[in-house]
Amino acid sequence: MFGDRMRSDADELAARAEDAAGRLRDAGVHGIVLPYVDTAGVTRIKTVPTARLARAARWGVGMSPVFDVFLTDDSITASEHVGGPDGDLRLVPDLDRLTTLAAQPGWAWAPVDRYSQAGDPWPTCQRGFARAMVERAAAAGLTFKTAIEVEWALGRAGTDEFVPACTGPAYGATRLIELSDYARDLLAALDAQGVEVEQLHPEYADAQFELSVAARDPVGAADDSLLVRQTIRAVAHRHGLRPSFAPSVLAGRVGNGGHVHLSVARERRNLFSGGPGPYGLTDEAQAATAGILELLPALLAIGAPSVASYLRLVPSHWAGAYACWGHETREAALRLVTGDAGEQESAANLEVKCFDLAANPYLLFGALIAAVLDGMRQGLRLPPPVTGDPAALSPGELAERGIRRLPTTLDDAAQALSGCPPLRDAMGDVLTGAVLAVRRAEAQRFREVPDEDVAAALRWVY
Ligand code: GLU
Ligand code: MG
Repeated sequence: MFGDRMRSDADELAARAEDAAGRLRDAGVHGIVLPYVDTAGVTRIKTVPTARLARAARWGVGMSPVFDVFLTDDSITASEHVGGPDGDLRLVPDLDRLTTLAAQPGWAWAPVDRYSQAGDPWPTCQRGFARAMVERAAAAGLTFKTAIEVEWALGRAGTDEFVPACTGPAYGATRLIELSDYARDLLAALDAQGVEVEQLHPEYADAQFELSVAARDPVGAADDSLLVRQTIRAVAHRHGLRPSFAPSVLAGRVGNGGHVHLSVARERRNLFSGGPGPYGLTDEAQAATAGILELLPALLAIGAPSVASYLRLVPSHWAGAYACWGHETREAALRLVTGDAGEQESAANLEVKCFDLAANPYLLFGALIAAVLDGMRQGLRLPPPVTGDPAALSPGELAERGIRRLPTTLDDAAQALSGCPPLRDAMGDVLTGAVLAVRRAEAQRFREVPDEDVAAALRWVY
């Protein structure tokens, strides 16, 4: 079905790409970056000269399928279906997201979908999976508005150690004064690239910042997450700085989250407001939230996919280490954000705090949509909300309230995914197998490795 679409659209896409390439060449753009995120969460690229864009749109650009089982140290594992030196697939740029990169003069950028040489969607194409889940939800009358918050710790370039790029206090005005030109250049670049920034602020950890963007459709939000990080990195490079998006920059400290915001609408009405349930939840929003809550341990294998994720995901760090929900509660994995009086209808949403930026954002959105649909299908109900820090409760109180600690290791999260039919069915055997193989190999690679060495090994890869 996809294959037909690709073949029938291909000539038209090539013509559009030819026009776009002409405009890019006139604007001094020489090359196009074609990124995708691998299963381990590393963004990999190919590039083509601008003159080859039309050919890439028509035929795609070749790449080995083995990257689906690459690890963070560039070694390679294998799953039942994926691995080895054989085969080739086609990276096809999405022309709707073709963007001139403001902080990399002479370059443009377009995320890719991956197809077989026959033109069929590749079963481990995680962007394709996200789109397929968006389409499945749309067939049930549901649309999603989503965004990923980006946190990063800004270090000095030229060293693999983390040397903080500023010294001011958490949320402090001093940090922005120290890095005023960097932050200005970042906002200017994102603006030039059409990314709608909502906020930029100094965060809690050493030299940590956070940037949030406007919510949009899931594939668009995942693309934004890539583009924002590409831009943060490129601007930093021009200033002699180096961002770490890793879940844990320094073991034992507050890490970088990749909190996901999502709301679901039916016939354009936000299901997270105006309902009869707690805090105005409709029954469907309650079921959606409960669907995510139920599958959170398995979702962690997707949203917290790194061994370093579990250095970050500890109680009392605002990372959401407990499977529970609460209204504006920053220690609950699920934080219900209702918005100010008067703007609930547009603003109410669910923040999933336990995820980080090692996640493949496309895979994550696809899996979250699967969890939402599963919760709605079963008409699940939420337990009572939590207030305060669950870490302050005794084991007995936690059990009484049905609050579970989320998996504390990547092995445990992978085990939960392995035993989760709703996610496995949505992802299919080939994608599930690749994800599990990569998770288990990453866990194995770091077995017995001290926490600080885990953080150091993964500090700069995401
Ligand atoms: N840095 C925290 C984390 O690891 C999040 C802080 C916040 O709530 O924004 O997720
Ligand atoms: Mg934050």
